[in-house]
Amino acid sequence: MSVVQLSPRVQQLHEALAAFVEDECIPAEAEYRRELGEGAQRWTTAPQTMERLKVRARALGLWNLFLTREYAEGAGLTNYEYAVLCEVMGRSPAIAPEACNCSAPDTGNMEVLAKFGSAAQKKRWLEPLLDGTVRSAFAMTEPGVASSDATNICTRIERKDGGYLVNGRKWWISGAGHPRCAMFLTMGKTDLAAAKHQQQSIVIVPADARGVTVVRPLTVFGYDDAPHGHCEVTFDNVWVPAENLVLGEGRGFEVIQGRLGPGRIHHCMRSLGMGERAMELMIERVQARTTFGRKISEHGVVLDYIAKSRMELEAARMLVLRAADMIDRVGAKHALKEIAMAKVVVPSAVLAVLDRAIQMFGAGGVGPDTPLADFWAGMRTLRIADGPDEVHTRQIAQLEIRQHNARRASRQGARAPAKL
Ligand SMILES: Cc1cc2nc3c(=O)[nH]c(=O)nc-3n(C[C@H](O)[C@H](O)[C@H](O)COP(=O)(O)OP(=O)(O)OC[C@H]3O[C@@H](n4cnc5c(N)ncnc54)[C@H](O)[C@@H]3O)c2cc1C
Repeated sequence: MSVVQLSPRVQQLHEALAAFVEDECIPAEAEYRRELGEGAQRWTTAPQTMERLKVRARALGLWNLFLTREYAEGAGLTNYEYAVLCEVMGRSPAIAPEACNCSAPDTGNMEVLAKFGSAAQKKRWLEPLLDGTVRSAFAMTEPGVASSDATNICTRIERKDGGYLVNGRKWWISGAGHPRCAMFLTMGKTDLAAAKHQQQSIVIVPADARGVTVVRPLTVFGYDDAPHGHCEVTFDNVWVPAENLVLGEGRGFEVIQGRLGPGRIHHCMRSLGMGERAMELMIERVQARTTFGRKISEHGVVLDYIAKSRMELEAARMLVLRAADMIDRVGAKHALKEIAMAKVVVPSAVLAVLDRAIQMFGAGGVGPDTPLADFWAGMRTLRIADGPDEVHTRQIAQLEIRQHNARRASRQGARAPAKL
């Protein structure tokens, strides 16, 4: 499973993307941070560096690669092919994904609109998102309830005056702080009397609708992730027209399943890129520094760190590529176990690599002069934000037992004597 096996077109994209990320995105990281500035300015600035790189990525044909071949609006790639490219973007996670219009949460939201959106919703919301002129957010999690079980969500979406009235409090809504955030795909309950998984619906709430308040940006281990951020947001008697309902009343779970499938292994793909960058930094560092009369790289324990890191990254990559390949061949619904395994294994593997790389930098590793501390904070967060590990492991075990029982039943059926 290497780049060599990819089609000539994807190999070309890979080469162009690798050069773009190494030569243009990574060198622009410091300038991007400077342009963001300080204090309140961080939430009102769309840094010019990003706008410049978006133009470049588009000119290089590195735009909207995430939308796979089943969508007319997409770049025509498979999930497997995108996995290889997405990893490259992950090497500069604050810059490259957005520069290529492949960043979360927009990718998942665009997928939802491409898959389930009406013609009018596509025109009004999907087109500007695909064009990279606006950004978006996905509003599901609530402070008041355990949101890893989405049936708990209690924001109300009630019919009113030919549309819907939305009332609720959300938090950790990524992207809500961005000055160009145009809309929230918002999950709430339309029918409290319906079956457990049919009470929920998704509506598009324009960010400038009356009653929408971005209360505060939250921080992740002290990082504010401006300008997009992760925010607490309230919806206070927000009225939206009926045409803003996505797919249909009571179909919120169908929509989030669509969103959380392929889209969610994108995080795993990008994480591998962060792991690879950490490996490179670690290897450079241990060869450049001397302790106790020899290079750090010559201490046996450090060789062990490097070898373990390589093995863990390779194993994690195999899981991601297998999940992507399964999605391509049998669909996300039949790749749930593979997707869940990748989501559990990858962040932990990359965290371990980051931890060793940080260790090799000594105090410098926890400071601002390498990207390692920032990467670590993001990766630790992923073990919760992408669905908590325990929720995925529960699903893996349940599927494993079900598959085992199905295999046993089919073996027993095969051995049973044919009825005369
Ligand atoms: C940086 C960041 C960005 C985010 N972005 C978004 C966003 O854009 N939109 C959005 O809607 N949400 C977002 N989230 C929220 C995220 O999806 C939720 O935090 C996550 O689903 C968990 O929900 P919760 O925080 O309510 O935890 P809870 O549901 O309260 O769960 C708490 C803990 O209980 C444990 N647990 C849960 N279920 C089980 C189980 N079955 N077995 C054993 N243990 C279990 C887990 O350890 C879990 O972490 C983001 C979160 C972070 C940190």
